[in-house]
Parts: sequence; C-alpha cells; structure tokens
Amino acid sequence: MRIDVVSIFPDYLAPLSLSLVGKARTAGILDVQVHDLRSWATDRHHTVDDTPAGGGAGMVMRPDVWGAALDDVLTPDAHLLIPTPSGTTFTQRTAETLATEQHLVLACGRYEGIDARVAEHYRASGTRVSEISIGDYVLGGGEAAALVVVEAVTRLLPGVVGNPHSLVEESHGVAGLLEYPVYTKPPAWSGLDVPEVLTSGHHRKIERWRRDQALTRTAARRPDLLAALDVAALDKRDLAQLSELGWVVVGGALRPVAE
Ligand code: SAM
Repeated sequence: MRIDVVSIFPDYLAPLSLSLVGKARTAGILDVQVHDLRSWATDRHHTVDDTPAGGGAGMVMRPDVWGAALDDVLTPDAHLLIPTPSGTTFTQRTAETLATEQHLVLACGRYEGIDARVAEHYRASGTRVSEISIGDYVLGGGEAAALVVVEAVTRLLPGVVGNPHSLVEESHGVAGLLEYPVYTKPPAWSGLDVPEVLTSGHHRKIERWRRDQALTRTAARRPDLLAALDVAALDKRDLAQLSELGWVVVGGALRPVAE
C-alpha cells in the first residue's frame, strides 16, 4: 500500500518511521511519503491560508495551493482522506475498508480547515473523497488524525502484525465487544493476583471466562455496543451472563432491564 500525507508540518509525521508503521515500511509492505504543502505555494512567503469568505475568526486553507499539491500527489486509484471534526466517524470498520486500498492520500488541515471546494472539486472529478473525524473533539490540525488513521490501517495489512489471531478477539473486532482484561507474569503483584482460571490450563474455562469478562466490560463501558449486538451470535451462556448484568433481549435486540 502507498500512503501520501500532505501537511504544513511534515516533521509532525516523524513517528511514521517508528514501531509498527516503521517496520511495515522497512519490510516493503507500506510506502509512506510525507509532503510539505508549502512547497506548492507560489508566493514569496509560501502562503497557504487566507481570511474566511463571509468574515469571522481564523484563517482558511486556500484551495489553489491544495489543488496544486493534490493534482501532483493523487493517482487514479487514490482515495483522498480529509481529516475534519465535521467528518464521518473513523472506526475499526473504516480502517478495515481502507486496508484493502492501493493508495491513500491524507490532506492535513490547519487553522479553520481547508476551503470546502477542495473536497467538492475532487469528488466531482471522480476521486473517492472521505471527510473523516477521529472523534468528537477538535484538534489543532489533521496531522494527529493522519497518524491515527495510518497506524490503524497499517496494523491490518497482511504481514504487519506477527500473530494475525491477535486481530480477531480485540476490541471493536467482529464480535462487537470490548476485549477482556489481559494479564501476564508475575502471577502476584502489589497484592493483586492473576485470576486463577487463567493459570488453570483449562482452555474451555478460560475462553468462557474471557467471553463473560468481555460482556461485563462492554455492558459497563460501552452499552451502545451491546445494544447494537447481533443477538443471533449469542449463546445461552452469553444470555445468562447478560441477564445477570441487567440486559435482556427485547424485540430482537439487547436492552437494559431498567429501560
Ligand atoms: N473549524 C473546524 C470545525 O469546527 O470543524 C475545525 C478546524 S481544526 C482547528 C483544524 C484541523 O484540525 C482540521 O482541518 C482537521 O484537519 C483537524 N482536526 C481537528 N479535529 C479533528 C478531528 N476530530 N478529526 C479529524 N481531524 C481533525
């Protein structure tokens, strides 16, 4: 996969040489190129922004500078990603879809964002364009969002995560649950023991304990995920555990008893 990131702060993207993404690049699984938007600005000061049309606070990034950059960086296969707090929410499902692409281009905004005509123009010219938000908060720029997207997508590329099974049970995976709590050695630490079942060697019991913990944790922390679960994928023991947690099936969906 090829990923291009365009930003006025290319140094912000330095972590893309580290850890999992860095290894994927070294292994030739991922080709990442970071570009300085200012190198497409034509004036003496390399200006990339101007005052907002209609007035108001802050500055807006100019479409002509972005257009020159994106015309150079986009390929016919590319999917243009524009991070913005007003975008659709980036989730694990989005990462899974993007991990099947050949070429992603991330356009990192700053100030009040990028002139809206940039997304409109590339959509109209047939480029796939997604405006994506990494959460309901406002960052100073799209670089941190680009780092999030690149890392979430890269770990799903074949060959990047050593044991692909670790992608199966994790939070926000196909099961739709948060992951169970995890432990390692030493078996006792600070007066706290690793749960006995995990050292029992009894695989079926361990599996059941983990499933119950995943249900319990999801009920406590993300009831919205439980409400969206496919009840057909739940077994009798799941339903018993959920009932203990105060969740029952009503009209084909899980609902808290108190509701
Ligand atoms: N005025 C914009 C608004 O209210 O929607 C916010 C602009 S923000 C200060 C500047 C840039 O940070 C955005 O263009 C975008 O690239 C990035 N950004 C901020 N929050 C983000 C988020 N939650 N997800 C993705 N990108 C974000």
